[in-house]
Amino acid sequence: MRIINKAKISEYTSYKLDGEIKKLYIPEDILELKKLLDYLKDNNIRYKILGNGSNLIISHKYDGVLIKLSKFDKLIIKDKCVKVMAGYNLSKLSLECAKRNLCGLEFAYGIPATVGGAVYQNAGAYGFNISMIIKEAIVLDGNNIRTLSKDEMKFGYRDSIFKHSDLICLEAIFELEYGDNVMGKMKEYMDERKLKQPLEYPNAGSVFVNPKGYSAGKLIENSGLKGFKVNDVMVSYKHANFIVNTGRAKAEDVIQLIKIIQNKVKDDTGILLDCEQEYLE
Ligand SMILES: Cc1cc2nc3c(=O)[nH]c(=O)nc-3n(C[C@H](O)[C@H](O)[C@H](O)COP(=O)(O)OP(=O)(O)OC[C@H]3O[C@@H](n4cnc5c(N)ncnc54)[C@H](O)[C@@H]3O)c2cc1C
Repeated sequence: MRIINKAKISEYTSYKLDGEIKKLYIPEDILELKKLLDYLKDNNIRYKILGNGSNLIISHKYDGVLIKLSKFDKLIIKDKCVKVMAGYNLSKLSLECAKRNLCGLEFAYGIPATVGGAVYQNAGAYGFNISMIIKEAIVLDGNNIRTLSKDEMKFGYRDSIFKHSDLICLEAIFELEYGDNVMGKMKEYMDERKLKQPLEYPNAGSVFVNPKGYSAGKLIENSGLKGFKVNDVMVSYKHANFIVNTGRAKAEDVIQLIKIIQNKVKDDTGILLDCEQEYLE
């Protein structure tokens, strides 16, 4: 198994924040993953599964290790059934399906995620999300490998059972349909992303969940926070629900800016914005 000591947080996460992680493990297969988990549990070492690192704010103070499932990257497409391992890149999957005129994953094109991270988060966009197309998942539950049905995964808005348990998603099985102009739809979504999102700066997507009936971005913009900075992190001018790293930002800068935004929007509107990104400290 590959072990990277003092792994730079900036190399493994989309915010590209400052700092290092003690160790980053890249297991070759399930057997190695199981052995590693046993070792970490026996030695009381904190760990976190790392996908593409595009929803994580990792502090340089985090004293645990990361496990990257990049070797879990097999894809099998048989007719309308897509069986894909957790480490597979979500946009690449979307593209592979589109090449076969399979529709359902167009929304996922441009979401910088692994399949495992997208299932964990029930990632979505443009009115679609993972729960609409997933049939089941193969998971590691302690030392057992088992299959979870869609219902058992308890999906909600940016939510699933994975967020509330130690389950590790190993594989996802999607049931898609044949459709027309799949590539065209994907291109449309990608063009919209490029137009509206500050992709020129490191970021981790939307910071806050949209409160029911409101746009988090609009609330932040109305509070006059576009361009507001804490050291090297800034509320994006292009889209106020994005925080961007304009230089050598630390996780603590992001957290401080998140709190400032929450307080200001709460003072102005009475609405408490709920953070969508995960903080590892
Ligand atoms: C430019 C940009 C645009 C974005 N657009 C969108 C969007 O349109 N819609 C959207 O929903 N999100 C969006 N995001 C956010 C992000 O891409 C998603 O939240 C995505 O699902 C995160 O996946 P990841 O693989 O990067 O997970 P990570 O950030 O690496 O991890 C997130 C969580 O998932 C857990 N996890 C990862 N893999 C597994 C696994 N195999 N088993 C169990 N747990 C696991 C991790 O432990 C962690 O708790 C965007 C981000 C960026 C940077």
